[in-house]
Amino acid sequence: MPVSLTFDDGPEPRWTAAVLDALGEAGARATFFVLAAKAAREPALVARALAEGHEVGLHGDRHLRHTEHDRATIEADTDAALRRLDVLGVQPTLWRLPWGRAAVWTPDVARERGLRIVGWDADTHDWRGDAAAAMLDAVAADLRDGCIVLAHDGLGPGATRDGCGETVALVGALARLAAERGLGCVPVGENDAVPA
Ligand SMILES: [Zn+2]
Repeated sequence: MPVSLTFDDGPEPRWTAAVLDALGEAGARATFFVLAAKAAREPALVARALAEGHEVGLHGDRHLRHTEHDRATIEADTDAALRRLDVLGVQPTLWRLPWGRAAVWTPDVARERGLRIVGWDADTHDWRGDAAAAMLDAVAADLRDGCIVLAHDGLGPGATRDGCGETVALVGALARLAAERGLGCVPVGENDAVPA
């Protein structure tokens, strides 16, 4: 009976480290959908996430909206990301699309690279800068077996906050609420309640 906490748009030195600390204190493991251009600058954070039992998936190299670019551009971005992650010892199988937006050809691009597109069931909207308590209230009703929770350990292009402190504060509260409901926190790839 697990849920999966997911974090997009990192890694970033301050916030990813703090999210990892919070996950460790909560005994929770999660999935980080990284921007590979950032990951290449933070190899130690990627290594730490893996060493602590978390999963690293693909978000993109840059943060491109598939519906605003042609297929060749997205293929080039995706392949660049996969090359950078391979250098870090990461061969992702899961892909969270920037803004969750697919073009008609996105599923083919994913299939050709052995990537499974992963959405979410509960959105913390943490990029807006909401307080942790408000975010917990907003996702509480959806926190059930198989639920994928969307949050961010980095500041993406649409973020209207200047840090991820409230997300860090949310991690422990989410893990506690999940535990009260008999739910563990495991990476998406290990969550048997998520349809493959
Ligand atoms: Zn993003």
